[in-house]
Amino acid sequence: MADEEKGVFCRLCGRRIDPTRGHYVVRIEVFAADDPPEKRVYFNQSKNFKEEINRLLEEIASTNPQELEDQVYKFFKFDLCRLCQREYIKSPLGRRS
Ligand SMILES: [Zn+2]
Repeated sequence: MADEEKGVFCRLCGRRIDPTRGHYVVRIEVFAADDPPEKRVYFNQSKNFKEEINRLLEEIASTNPQELEDQVYKFFKFDLCRLCQREYIKSPLGRRS
């Protein structure tokens, strides 16, 4: 498999992750909790790609820029090796206790 040849690198220590020793994924979602779901801008993957892009562009064009900024949904995904996963879960928000 091409992915295995290239390898996956730990986002914290930069080492190549050996899947036999443990490969962990951190997924972080950040969104406005009080935002009604119908106000969020979603990309519907099950619909026709071009039509969906056009629909989103129209939706964005008709939305106030500040309002749009507030409702931007952020998604992060990081690969971690086993050693870094152990450290990470002690303090997921990066705070030292
Ligand atoms: Zn690591």
